[in-house]
Amino acid sequence: MSTTAINETHDPKQKSWVDAANEAGADFPLQNLAFGVFRRAGKAEDFRGGVAIGDQILDLAAAVRTGMFAKDAAEAAVLASAPTLNGFMGADPGLASALRLALFRALREGSALEGRARACLVPMKDAEMGLPAAIGDFTDFFSSVFHATNTGSMFRPDSPLFPNYKHLPIAYHGRSSSIRVGSLASPHTFPRPQGQSKPADAPAPLFGPSKRLDYELEVGVWIGRGNDQGTRVSIEGAEAHAFGLCLLNDWSARDIQGWEYQPLGPFLAKNFATTISPWIVTLEALAPFRVAEFTRPAGDPAPMAYLDSPHNRAAGGIDLKLEVLLLTARMRAAGLAPVRLSASNFRDSYWTIAQFIAHHTVGGCNLNPGDLFGSGTQSGRTREEFGSLLELSWGGKTPVELPNGEKRAFLEDGDTLIFRGHCSRDGYARIGFGDVAGTVLPAN
Ligand code: MN
Repeated sequence: MSTTAINETHDPKQKSWVDAANEAGADFPLQNLAFGVFRRAGKAEDFRGGVAIGDQILDLAAAVRTGMFAKDAAEAAVLASAPTLNGFMGADPGLASALRLALFRALREGSALEGRARACLVPMKDAEMGLPAAIGDFTDFFSSVFHATNTGSMFRPDSPLFPNYKHLPIAYHGRSSSIRVGSLASPHTFPRPQGQSKPADAPAPLFGPSKRLDYELEVGVWIGRGNDQGTRVSIEGAEAHAFGLCLLNDWSARDIQGWEYQPLGPFLAKNFATTISPWIVTLEALAPFRVAEFTRPAGDPAPMAYLDSPHNRAAGGIDLKLEVLLLTARMRAAGLAPVRLSASNFRDSYWTIAQFIAHHTVGGCNLNPGDLFGSGTQSGRTREEFGSLLELSWGGKTPVELPNGEKRAFLEDGDTLIFRGHCSRDGYARIGFGDVAGTVLPAN
């Protein structure tokens, strides 16, 4: 099956009997059908899988008990109703596709299953979201050439990009234990990290709370089917191993990073917290928004054969619009709305999801269902498209001025960072990601 084929579940003319799913600007219309894990807040319940529809969650465990699914969709729904979605993500992609079609038909206007399905709805406002999967491994890429060039030029003005950048997708192996879901309704909170740093003018390293705490605007890629150790995933088959996408904030302590990152890369600068959005938007839902891979400037090297395919060239990218918003403690106290800091697009990523997977496995590394990739900070060409404060404030030299008079070179305690994402295109339903949000607490 193709990850870019348009089918019945993308039909923009179909509406849902859940009214909120049909509102203009809704993140979760009938054509999205994002998967997550939830329970009713304040109840002694087990987490279980659910599907987002409008402002509601279809409880898949309850839906399975009604007998509303048949054949492959029934098999898939049992897997997707578990407390973690690893089993569902690792199953044949055809099963998830069958469940998507069954959900589309059950939730659309005029469905004979409306009565049974309506009894399985839980309002999102009453739900507590959980991690969608047990995340075995987390790998964070560095796929925006604009971000890489910006950050590199601060430290190495004469040669911002390392010579390998345009030949392979750079990444580091991250930490999965500190990944949490968070959204504006229930932000992920964590204390400001402490550690070693060494300001340029200091004779010796210092210890204390980070003074240069930052966010990174990233797309998360959930791995579906894995591969056996010692085998590799070809770029042609790579997208069949990507279950779906979320939004990801790779919180980064720049002062800790600056002192520790050579020679082996980020460590404590990034291992204290990562926040992801709770809903997984499947690659199938994103089929209408596929675009050609990033156009490499003339003179850039062509990707090696294992990182190149006709499909990847023609449709390896995703037109996914991203934005960053900040709500400071003072803004919150004054009842002000979050303010937008920047906006960018995942289509400007130098490397694609298929290239991430093909490269990650080319040496024989095995991926497992529920592994998570971060795309790396998604910055675009202009300042309005920069995906971190490090870039917006250019290393702290030009603080961002907020409408209420506050300034930010880096994050302060009480700051809440919110990322949103959506795909839109004439002739198709808008597909939203919801939001990811986290709040910085004072250091312990
Ligand atoms: Mn990152």
